[in-house]
Amino acid sequence: MSDIQLPERLEGVEPVRSIRTFASLTYQYTPGRAASRFLKEVERKRLVGQRCPVCKKVYVPPRGSCPTDGVATEEEVELGHTGTIVSFCVVNVPFMANLMEIPYVGALIQLDGSDIPIMHLIQEVPYDEVHMGMRVEAVWVPDGEISHTLESIKYFRPNGEPDAPYDSYKENA
Ligand SMILES: [Zn+2]
Repeated sequence: MSDIQLPERLEGVEPVRSIRTFASLTYQYTPGRAASRFLKEVERKRLVGQRCPVCKKVYVPPRGSCPTDGVATEEEVELGHTGTIVSFCVVNVPFMANLMEIPYVGALIQLDGSDIPIMHLIQEVPYDEVHMGMRVEAVWVPDGEISHTLESIKYFRPNGEPDAPYDSYKENA
């Protein structure tokens, strides 16, 4: 406090160092050409990735280029609504905006036909039964509520298929 010069009438008064207040911020986000195409397809209940012409990897959501080869990815590839859990996290920490009941599971899911996993929720299975290699399927919101966001998929759930062999997803595990 010695570095703050207070007016005489405030001597002995503790200075205010922070204020808590409500704030609201509105963002406008432009996803770019490749991601916009992807999101427009989501609106049609389709998951469409893009294949690199050099390494042949299929990226989802596509960013328009391959980060490894530095070339444009233009070939579009429709992906399945099923995939394999390649990694996951059991969430036990509640936070303010979180409407999920804990514990819940967030996972990296490699959609069938793609080489890069997406992150999404896993539901309809006890958290301690989730494991790498588990086969899952997308559960979409009702048709009238589907829009251009991955939130159009409510979550993924086990689809009852046998576990995928490790070799099929080890690059992303
Ligand atoms: Zn590539």
